[in-house]
Amino acid sequence: MKKLLLLVLAVALAGGAYAQKIVGLSSKARSGEASANLTYVNAVKKAGGVPIVIPMTTDDRQIDAILNVIDALIMTGGEDINPLKYFNEEPHPNLGDVVPERDAFDIKLIRKAVEKGIPVLGICRGVQVMNVAFGGTLYQDIPTQVPTYGIQHSQNAPGSMGTHTITIDKNSVLYKQVGKEKIAVNSFHHQAVKDVAPGFKVTAKSNDGVIEAIESISNPKVWGVQFHPEHLVNGEEKDHFIGIFKALME
Ligand code: MN
Repeated sequence: MKKLLLLVLAVALAGGAYAQKIVGLSSKARSGEASANLTYVNAVKKAGGVPIVIPMTTDDRQIDAILNVIDALIMTGGEDINPLKYFNEEPHPNLGDVVPERDAFDIKLIRKAVEKGIPVLGICRGVQVMNVAFGGTLYQDIPTQVPTYGIQHSQNAPGSMGTHTITIDKNSVLYKQVGKEKIAVNSFHHQAVKDVAPGFKVTAKSNDGVIEAIESISNPKVWGVQFHPEHLVNGEEKDHFIGIFKALME
């Protein structure tokens, strides 16, 4: 009898805290597809949410309709952002693939989501899009542009493995979720936030000064990380990283 009561209580609590929250995933720009990596899908599921992939569009009414359905948004990783169009810089020789349709979709989607008060988590390209959408700039190529560059940000190790340390500001959403001031994260990027967008602050850095997380000062539900927590939730420190996704459901 006691066991049954405990079970009922546990189910009720789990249902109440994370009741069917729908988390939209921005899709990638592969030709002929509207897809997102399964790692994002699984991380949202693991945190108790319902993931849905949002196909690319710049149609205002379609984006508004989608935002009426989702409870939170993850801006996923991917290609480089057009520097000339979005932060008025000539393209660096090492600039990677740029996909104009995805840039336009991502920028519109994130601005509208924030305006509507929807929680947004930016991951990798997603945090870069977040910064640029609200007036910040990027390093187009860390190795040649970051003066203090000195550690590997494009790891060859598996994604679930943290390879470089970040130091997290104790007064941040990221610290609240991860619960550690120093932790090893994975790293798959050659670009990073340079000038932080007005209204945002830096909440984590790697040891060579590269910005690894930012958050909105006025809205703690809008934040982003340069690393990939969707992989780290399968690694050694998984219990520290799952909170990043659970935060979307709070
Ligand atoms: Mn890194």
